[in-house]
Amino acid sequence: MSSLLTRTRLSNPSPFLRRFLSSTSSSPLRPLPNPVDRNVQWIFLGCPGVGKGTYASRLSSLLSVPHIATGDLVRDELSSSGTLSDQLREIVNRGELVSDEIIFNLLSKRLAAGDAKGESGFILDGFPRTINQAEILKGVADIDLVVNLKLREDVLLEKCLGRRICSQCGKNYNVASINVKGENGRPGMSMAPLLPPQHCMSKLITRSDDTEEVVKERLRIYYEKSQPVEEYYRSQGKLIEFDLPGGIPESWPKLLEALKLDDYEEKQLAAA
Ligand code: ADP
Repeated sequence: MSSLLTRTRLSNPSPFLRRFLSSTSSSPLRPLPNPVDRNVQWIFLGCPGVGKGTYASRLSSLLSVPHIATGDLVRDELSSSGTLSDQLREIVNRGELVSDEIIFNLLSKRLAAGDAKGESGFILDGFPRTINQAEILKGVADIDLVVNLKLREDVLLEKCLGRRICSQCGKNYNVASINVKGENGRPGMSMAPLLPPQHCMSKLITRSDDTEEVVKERLRIYYEKSQPVEEYYRSQGKLIEFDLPGGIPESWPKLLEALKLDDYEEKQLAAA
């Protein structure tokens, strides 16, 4: 793995990767970097089903930075034919992690394609998932902030089982209607389903790794391999914990507030 990084760093440092090497402080909530110099380099962590993709993609639109989800890169690879995709399918359908080498290859290709289009910064989702990945990322990027999304486990499972993708437009939906009563001092929680428009309804598919057995295995692997990554960034003072209070209507404004972005759009308009 280190040879992969050495290759990336020494023989082919794209301007994008070179920009990664610019300096930073370690306070989680310093002002957004000036987009002229360099855009945000943020990470979303959290268990399967917590909503990393939903909130990372909303923030990516708000801040005009690419949302890069390694799960999407893996699924793109799965949709091609070949021996790599056959190997990956087996791993993903067992709920296991793909090797760091494959993930770094997919990610390097995605970053290089973005670099060629003039993209700057990123919001990473689903990466890093192991301490090794975090260490390697540290060698090439300068992470500003890590958002750790949290939700109770019974809700996570329901959300994963309710996930659907439109096979035509590729958008994500969720048919689960969550209504958990509060008990023993724990507050209840409601989340309305996120239903597709009528024209997508008949084209919905379920991810092959969103079965109860595989989701439980992915949660187990998250606690074993990915939770240490939370502590890794916590100890660097880069982690923001965010307990989702409910569905998107309740959570999105609160997340913006936690990230001190609640007046971001007004400030952008005022500056324009
Ligand atoms: P989740 O809903 O569990 O967050 P993702 O869409 O992020 O799922 O990832 C789907 C699958 O892709 C994972 O279960 C894993 O097999 C693979 N994968 C995605 N990102 C990584 C990564 N950073 N390292 C290893 N495997 C990954």
